[in-house]
Amino acid sequence: MALIVQKYGGTSVGTVGRINHVADMVSARRKAGDDLVVVVSAMSGETNRLTELARQINPDASAREMDVLLSTGEQVTIALLTIALHQRDCPAVSYTGRQVGIVTDNVHSKARIKSIDHAGVRRDLDQGKVVVVAGFQGVDEQQNITTLGRGGSDTTAVALAAALAADECQIYTDVDGIYTADPRIIPDARRMKSVTVEEMLELAGLGAKVLHLRSVELAGKYRVPLRVLSSFEEGDGTLITYEDESMEQALVSGVTCNSNEAKLTITGVPDQPGIAYRILAPISNAHIDVDMIIQNVGDDGATDFTFTVSRIDYEKAIAILLDVAKKVSADNVKGDRDIAKVSVVGVGMRSNPGIATTVFKALADEDINIQMISTSEIKISVVVSEPEMKKAANVLHSAFQLSGEVSREEGKCA
Ligand code: ASP
Ligand code: MG
Repeated sequence: MALIVQKYGGTSVGTVGRINHVADMVSARRKAGDDLVVVVSAMSGETNRLTELARQINPDASAREMDVLLSTGEQVTIALLTIALHQRDCPAVSYTGRQVGIVTDNVHSKARIKSIDHAGVRRDLDQGKVVVVAGFQGVDEQQNITTLGRGGSDTTAVALAAALAADECQIYTDVDGIYTADPRIIPDARRMKSVTVEEMLELAGLGAKVLHLRSVELAGKYRVPLRVLSSFEEGDGTLITYEDESMEQALVSGVTCNSNEAKLTITGVPDQPGIAYRILAPISNAHIDVDMIIQNVGDDGATDFTFTVSRIDYEKAIAILLDVAKKVSADNVKGDRDIAKVSVVGVGMRSNPGIATTVFKALADEDINIQMISTSEIKISVVVSEPEMKKAANVLHSAFQLSGEVSREEGKCA
């Protein structure tokens, strides 16, 4: 007998039929003897629909009231799923975030969980009930309803699993696991049987959208056994692990692409102390996040400075940079929105210094120009022109033998 926390995402509970299917899965598992806490998202499209209703009244609605509104989506699902479980003679009870004792800070729309009072959940589990919990929500210390940010139900599930010391936290979604790359970009990407939490953090941060980033951070902090799997088909999904050993052979475990960035360059900047600060402070004061940064060595007392920002911030950033250029008497400001970032991620990089060479050679062989490079212990990112993104990603995916054989053995190719 195990204690399992399961989470079903929006598409997994998107229709009455899907909710009935989830109820079948949950009641079967309960009848097999496991204790179950089931966290659910709003039915797919519901959070967007509610957001749109508010927008029609006031695009600038109060964050507190938006949380009151959006939290209703999950409340509908917990009731429907519990009704479906009763229909199957499976004892179950539903709770909102507040009822289950999830206390957060007071940052509306991106609140962080501070504590969970799980005594009530324990009591219900002891009585043999399935506990159905609304994801994505809690209350602050003044009992105001808060939400955890889009995709936040994953975080509710991991937090509950940590608080209850569950044997496993299972995130059910519409894909059958974490892939070596986005199958829409790399058709022969394959499902990974396991991935380390550090790799998962990089992959989630670089745009693999399967898990809410916070949920991965939380899982890492409390070492929650976490698994991503599909509610649409059977399979073992992908297990997030905490030991590097299991990945010994994999130098690189995944390739990610991001075409939501743009590049800005300010040229002929006087090469003096404080210049990076004078360029980037106004950008950060405008709440624009900077990703990669490159500054050249200036031979003649002047230097070029290049960085990337989210594409939606591009216009704003260019305007700020033009202003900065005047103030620091730089030569010129240039920008390019047609860029993309391609990254390879793997814990094996730590002990294998040759990886960067493989990346550069693979791209050179295909005549793909690298515009920027950044590295961390377990990641190498390059900026290429957007039209070359797909090719670059595919080339790197094959250079590290991520495609092919293994997927066929597993019989789980996308
Ligand atoms: N319903 C919320 C959203 O769509 C939370 C979630 O699904 O995880 O973002
Ligand atoms: Mg999600």
